[in-house]
Amino acid sequence: MKKLPLSLAIAAMFISPLTLAKTVDAVASFTVLADIVKQVGGDHVKVKSLVGPDGDPHTFEPTPQDSQALAKADVVFVSGLGMEGWMDRLISASGYTGNVVVASNGVNTRKMEEEGKTVTDPHAWNSMQNGVIYATNVMNALIKADPQDEAEIRKSGERYIQQLQQLDGWAKRSFEAVPLSKRKVLTSHDAFGYFGQRYGVTFLAPVASQRKRKPAPAMWQQSLSS
Ligand SMILES: [Zn+2]
Repeated sequence: MKKLPLSLAIAAMFISPLTLAKTVDAVASFTVLADIVKQVGGDHVKVKSLVGPDGDPHTFEPTPQDSQALAKADVVFVSGLGMEGWMDRLISASGYTGNVVVASNGVNTRKMEEEGKTVTDPHAWNSMQNGVIYATNVMNALIKADPQDEAEIRKSGERYIQQLQQLDGWAKRSFEAVPLSKRKVLTSHDAFGYFGQRYGVTFLAPVASQRKRKPAPAMWQQSLSS
């Protein structure tokens, strides 16, 4: 009988039904996306968010630890549409060669003004209708990374998608009860365009183009009275 090469023999010892059910090591660019990944993947996924709570995904500066997390990831999730401008460099620095899933794939995009230029608005997750697209993309990617657990990932994914659809309907009905002229919100960062479009809410962002500057009271007043 021919002897198995040592590496194969060792590998054979470790392959048991128990090791087939695996946990997907996922990295997401920011917390909202990490939460979607966790909601969909449940116990079958461990997810790290690169940008922490209260961090700014537009201007994030990755650390060597982020690069290490990426290097050992099974799958990486970004929102896309130009938001994570820092991601390409981080990926090549980390040596990660796996799949980069763009969760916003398939979203009907809108434009916004930023620093005097018209750009694609990257904040697509803020409408729950788009959230369903994000969750579906995440679900498909997790199933691809962990086909053994397809049935369970599909179950938790579809349950989450149903919740988002219910929330979407609830938000539509709730906003419809408010007169259109009263559906105005003042914000310091123009991040709610998709939300406004979906639910008929006007967001006023007097300092939309200067993210780091604090608005002067006069600017707020002007926005509110217009
Ligand atoms: Zn933003």
